[in-house]
Amino acid sequence: MRIRAQCRECGLPFNDTITPETGELHCPGCGALFSVSAEGWSDEPPPRVDVCPLCDCRHLYRQRDFNRALGCLLVAIGAALVPWTYGLSLIVLSLVDVVLYYRLSEAVVCYRCDTVYRDARPGPRQKAFDLLKHDVLKYGKSWSEPDETLTDTPE
Ligand SMILES: [Zn+2]
Ligand SMILES: [Zn+2]
Repeated sequence: MRIRAQCRECGLPFNDTITPETGELHCPGCGALFSVSAEGWSDEPPPRVDVCPLCDCRHLYRQRDFNRALGCLLVAIGAALVPWTYGLSLIVLSLVDVVLYYRLSEAVVCYRCDTVYRDARPGPRQKAFDLLKHDVLKYGKSWSEPDETLTDTPE
């Protein structure tokens, strides 16, 4: 299953592939480790995700476009580069936005950790994005404390 996750430690979005044997993921940016559950999702066709393997959240939504957090990040990068590129960066990154939007088919996204399950097909319970639900799930709860022993850089 191809996924697009966002690191909880450094905020870096990254692409990866998980299998039931994956066990854990390393952030390519800071090396932080995240455990990947083998339960609650399946790679068997049609691929599905009922429980987020990265954060155990049962609330997921379908999304035709790509990761919203990534979209916001692209725009933020574009905006940050404006003084050096005379606004060109904003235009270029908006175009990247649009291209990504039309290239991707429907995927399943976790409300809580924003992980996109690119190969998963949405189930009947997995409806379109609901902002209220998102806010409750995302800001109404805090992340569980990361295990200090697992945050060392692998190198
Ligand atoms: Zn990271
Ligand atoms: Zn999640």
